[in-house]
This record gives sequence, structure tokens and C-alpha cells, in this order.
Amino acid sequence: MLDTRLSEEQEHLRKTVEDFARKVVAPVAAHHDSTATFPYDVVRQMGEMGLFGLPFPEEYGGMGGDYFALCLAIEELARVDQSVAITLEAGCSLGAMPVYRFGTEAQKQHWLPLLCSGQALGAFGLTEAGAGSDAAGTRTTARLEDGQWIINGSKAFITNSGTDISGGTTITAVTGMRADGKPEISNLIVDQDAPGFTRSKKYKKMGWRASDTRELSFVDAKIPEGNLLGKRGEGFIQFLKILDGGRISVAALSVGLAMGAYDEAVKYSKDRIAFGKPISKFQAISFKIVDMLCEIEHAKLMILKAAWEKDQGRPFEMSASLAKLYSAEVSRRVVNEALQIHGGYGFMDEYPVSRMYRDQKINEIGEGTNEVQRMVIARMLGL
Ligand SMILES: Cc1cc2nc3c(=O)[nH]c(=O)nc-3n(C[C@H](O)[C@H](O)[C@H](O)COP(=O)(O)OP(=O)(O)OC[C@H]3O[C@@H](n4cnc5c(N)ncnc54)[C@H](O)[C@@H]3O)c2cc1C
Repeated sequence: MLDTRLSEEQEHLRKTVEDFARKVVAPVAAHHDSTATFPYDVVRQMGEMGLFGLPFPEEYGGMGGDYFALCLAIEELARVDQSVAITLEAGCSLGAMPVYRFGTEAQKQHWLPLLCSGQALGAFGLTEAGAGSDAAGTRTTARLEDGQWIINGSKAFITNSGTDISGGTTITAVTGMRADGKPEISNLIVDQDAPGFTRSKKYKKMGWRASDTRELSFVDAKIPEGNLLGKRGEGFIQFLKILDGGRISVAALSVGLAMGAYDEAVKYSKDRIAFGKPISKFQAISFKIVDMLCEIEHAKLMILKAAWEKDQGRPFEMSASLAKLYSAEVSRRVVNEALQIHGGYGFMDEYPVSRMYRDQKINEIGEGTNEVQRMVIARMLGL
């Protein structure tokens, strides 16, 4: 039965990550945001703590935890720094998860210990300039020649793909035509040093500035035939499954951000004096804070339910999409009100709420926009 209380082990993990987030991540978050620099030292420590291996078995260097454990860690990191939290989310659910779920034993043995320890960062390249929500519109091609895949095309907005510690990027590519005349899509693991594979400079972004996001280009890029992930032609179904799970951890990213904005709003409202008293004493402000907490608690329960269903091996797709959609919209409402509570100071970069406001928007776009979530849910409802 679904239990809303954290077990002793889960609470220990949550507290450990919370302490780490407050002592190590938060003090450098504004610096990495303003300089758009990747937080190598923070990520190295996250690797040492085993965070990148949380949902993977110990035999591959993981922590033997479950998806909910990953969500707890993401929430606590997102509470103080979205860039760090997305680095973990993308590293685990987009980078390592495809290899774990669909890779051969040899691929798992090679990649997972590196990815779980944080020595290498994983990435997943699905989006292209002309294929975002319409992800099946992949134009990148790969043809098999003399035991090698020759890849041509490009990918847009790929998280974790160009840091000094980035490992392989799994990409979708058209590898032929199916009998029904539709493109055959397969997933391929592209080694970082594959000839013909280049990464652009980091994009200049409105938010998630410290996280690494690049455009990838393939000009007759060559990788070994054995880098095919799973079976040829199963790339489409594989990425749909990966995105289903990813929606839960992205929901955790949103709710973590909302929790962080809530923390800042509570703190500020108690400190800020107007008309002779702390603004928290004005009902207009305290009611905003109560409404924030209601929505956060609601979103957290939705994430818990989706993760529990997934960890139990039950159908979880509907709960995951609902949690992703709702949490993304909650994060928008909460961060907006948190900034409002800060008045003019919220508009100034010295207050974390300003960074949170910028970081929030992508939560309604990445890994399936709000519109796409509604489409997916409507389809599941048979509408
Ligand atoms: C910082 C960042 C990091 C990212 N990281 C990754 C990554 O690691 N890997 C990766 O593969 N991708 C990544 N992405 C890409 C991201 O997943 C896409 O941007 C997202 O899926 C939307 O695709 P798009 O940008 O092409 O928008 P479009 O698909 O062009 O959508 C534009 C607008 O049209 C709407 N729309 C589109 N189709 C429909 C429809 N049928 N009905 C109603 N509305 C519709 C959308 O909801 C949106 O509002 C990242 C993006 C960003 C900004």
C-alpha cells in the first residue's frame, strides 16, 4: 500500500542531500549562474556521494535505490539550485537509464560504473532543430558500413553533452525504412571522441545557466556497430519509455524549485517590515504562503504516487504525466508569488528568488511541454 511517510532510509537520504545542498551547493549557486560555469566541484562531490547511481543496482556501481530515492535527491538539490538538479536528473534518467534498461550486458558493464560514480556524465540527444515535440521527426541518419555506423545530422539543446566529464551521448537516428514506409529509428551511443562528432559552445540561456546545454553535430561521424542500443528499429519505443520515467524526476525538479521559492518567501516575509510589522502578518501575504504550501504538498503526493507505481512495476504513465504537468505549473505559480512577496528586491539578482524565477520557465518546456503533457493525458483518456 502507498505509504506517505518516508522510511528511515529515505529520510536519511533526504537529510543528507538537504545538508549537502545547503552547505555546498547553495553558497556557489549564484556564482555559477552569473558566470554560466559548470559546477565541477559540486558535481564531483555528488558523484562521490553516489547520487548519480541512486536508482541503479550495486552490481553496476549504483546505490541499489529506487526511482523515488532519485526524486528525493533531485527535490532537495532543486530547492537551492536548478542547474545542479537538472545535471543529476539528466545524468540519471536520460544518460544512464537508457543504457541500464536497453543496453547489452557489455554496454552496461562499460558505461554504468562510470555514469553511476559521476566520473562520466550521461546525455540523451533526441531533440533536433526541426524535431522537438514532434520527436519522431528525427532527420539525423545513421548507416551501417564496414562494421561502423556513419552518422550525419545534428541535435539541439542537449543537456550534459559538452562538459569535460561528459561521457557518451545516446542519440536517436533514422537507420532505414520500415516495411510500412515509416522511418526506422534506432538509438546509438556516441562516444565523446568519435571522429566527426562535434559540440557547439554552450548556449546562452535565460535559466539553468550553470548546466551544460549544447548543439551536437555529426558529419560522417563514426562509431562501432556495437554501439547500437538494444535492437535496431526500437529507438522510438525506447525513448518513449525513457521519457515516461523521466517525467517523474522532472516533476521532482519542479516541486523542488517550488519548495525553494516557498522557503525564500517565508524567510523574507518574516524579515521585511512594512507599516510597522513583518509583512508575514498581513493576511494578503500569509494566505499566499499557505496557498503555495497547499500546491506543493499536492504536487509532492502526485510525485510519490507516480514513483511508487513505477517502483512497484505497476502502470505509472498517467500518474507520471499528471505529476509532470501539475508540478511544472505549480512551480510557475509558486515562484511568481514568492517573487511578488519580495517586492522590488525580488527583481534584484542578489536574492535567489530572481534566479528561481528565470530557472522555472524551462520546467514547462523540457521533456514534454505542458501542451504535450495534456495531449498525452488526453490520449490516455481515449479523448
Ligand atoms: C535548457 C534545455 C535543455 C534541454 N535538454 C534536452 C536534452 O537533454 N535532450 C533532448 O533531447 N532535448 C532537450 N531539450 C529540448 C526540449 O525537450 C524541447 O525544447 C521540448 O521538447 C520542446 O520542443 P521544441 O523546443 O522544438 O518546441 P516545439 O515542439 O517547436 O513547440 C513549440 C510550441 O508549440 C507547442 N506544440 C507543438 N506541437 C503541438 C501540438 N501538437 N499541439 C499543441 N501544441 C503543440 C509546444 O507545446 C510549444 O508551446 C532541452 C531544451 C532546453 C531549452
